[in-house]
Amino acid sequence: MSAEIKVPTMAEFAARGEMPDILFWVGCASSFDDRAKKITRSFAKILHHCRISFAVLGTEESCTGDPAKRAGNEFLYQMQALTNIQVLNGYGITRMVTACPHCFNILKNEYPELGGDAYSCTECGRCTDVCPANQTGKLLSPRKIMMDTRDRMEEVGKGIDKNGKDFKDEKTLLHNYILPEEIWACTTCQACVEACPVNIDPLHIIVQIRRYMVMEENTTTSELNMMFTKVENNGAPWQFSPSDRFNWADDLTVKKLPE
Ligand code: SF4
Ligand code: SF4
Repeated sequence: MSAEIKVPTMAEFAARGEMPDILFWVGCASSFDDRAKKITRSFAKILHHCRISFAVLGTEESCTGDPAKRAGNEFLYQMQALTNIQVLNGYGITRMVTACPHCFNILKNEYPELGGDAYSCTECGRCTDVCPANQTGKLLSPRKIMMDTRDRMEEVGKGIDKNGKDFKDEKTLLHNYILPEEIWACTTCQACVEACPVNIDPLHIIVQIRRYMVMEENTTTSELNMMFTKVENNGAPWQFSPSDRFNWADDLTVKKLPE
């Protein structure tokens, strides 16, 4: 007869004021599908036999939102993801494993895009120190972008906890926390990404907000609208004819293809 294995929850660890070494993220199929549940039990046994200190979220775990995202419902995905990020950050989770490939992909590759990174920010300010926009007196500070994102996530998370998933407070990350002037000051040089000691990518948040401004608000500058039109019409951001594209080789002696 196999020995009984205790699978502790994060709540139990937290009640004792302790932290496990890792969180085992189980996933939906692994929680509910009879065949996949065998994998979950086997994985828990492996962790137990390797004497790894682990815990699960238990009933606090909810769908990552992966099926909704793959089916085109970005809104539902983001609702799920933001709720999960809040739970994970509430426990201060820094290491996670999962036996589900879908959960692995979305937790590792797509959750950070939603500002999950903001909770890892140490507020060291190295990103702002190297930012050329900041150094030349522009309003932009990538450190502030991370702080603002975290503060807004906290605010929304608390609102959802209190009022349910339809919570709205008439505020937005853009405008109430981050101004368009900050967003458009970025040169997209990536210096902040290079400088961050914990591999955070503040530029990703900036570009996502720009995408929202262009695609949803249509609040770009006239210069940018001109650039978009030229790319569409001429295939270049400047007012040149597509037929002039190879003119740069005119003074060279090399043959142009297909001559
Ligand atoms: S990518 Fe933008 S925010 Fe980051 S350092 Fe460059 S200008 Fe600053
Ligand atoms: S360098 Fe990274 S950790 Fe430091 S403030 Fe910027 S984003 Fe945060």
